[in-house]
Amino acid sequence: MTMISLQSIHKSYIMGFNNLHVLKGIDLEIQKGELVAIMGSSGSGKSTLLNIIGMLDGYDEGIYNLEGKPIKNMSEKKAAQFRNSHIGFVFQSFNLISFKNAVENVALPLYYKKISRKKRNAMALEILEKMGLKEWADHLPSELSGGQQQRIAIARALVSRPKIILADEPTGALDSKTSYEVMEQIKEVNQSGITVLIVTHEDDIAHMTDRIIRLHDGLIVKNELNGNKHKKLSPANVN
Ligand code: ADP
Ligand code: MG
Repeated sequence: MTMISLQSIHKSYIMGFNNLHVLKGIDLEIQKGELVAIMGSSGSGKSTLLNIIGMLDGYDEGIYNLEGKPIKNMSEKKAAQFRNSHIGFVFQSFNLISFKNAVENVALPLYYKKISRKKRNAMALEILEKMGLKEWADHLPSELSGGQQQRIAIARALVSRPKIILADEPTGALDSKTSYEVMEQIKEVNQSGITVLIVTHEDDIAHMTDRIIRLHDGLIVKNELNGNKHKKLSPANVN
């Protein structure tokens, strides 16, 4: 089943009197259950593309269908509902709330769904347990390592049971050992049936996915299946 379908997507930013044409006709299909890496140099439009896919930003031209539904003319309210029920985000900088503990951070997206506090925390704790992070539930972000913080952020993205996780350089702030641990977690998420898109600069991270898409100057210049999907993830056999 096609999860994400983009046809001829264009996006420009208006900068004073200049028009910055960032995406120049993106065609892309992503199937349900894929784990896909998006690569490209800084400024090539990776985050812009991810934000459009995540319905955080609009586009100027083209067609975007999510699960077969056109996104273009959705009302704000419908779009917000669609985003909340379909998409989880993970960022390079974790974006955890510093004065809330791990379980409260994970439970946060449920606050907006009118779920009781008790139920929210129970759901969050269940996810933390599944991810092997239960013992950190009552710790503040400052008491956790970078890798643990990112895994808490992944748990937070999962708590609303999304169909897609969009991760913008999720290992960009981590050392390589920790990056591999976070990638293991992301692979497990993917193996549970969730479609995952990861923006990354790192070749070894990209090679842990099913498919690599390379952006250059607002266009897809490479779109290739990875051969080593079933390789064990350890630094020794990642090249
Ligand atoms: P990447 O994630 O690949 O580094 P981005 O998608 O963030 O690239 O940015 C692509 C280009 O668009 C860059 O030149 C960037 O400066 C510009 N850009 C991104 N967001 C905005 C914005 N909100 N307003 C104006 N220009 C932007
Ligand atoms: Mg970016």
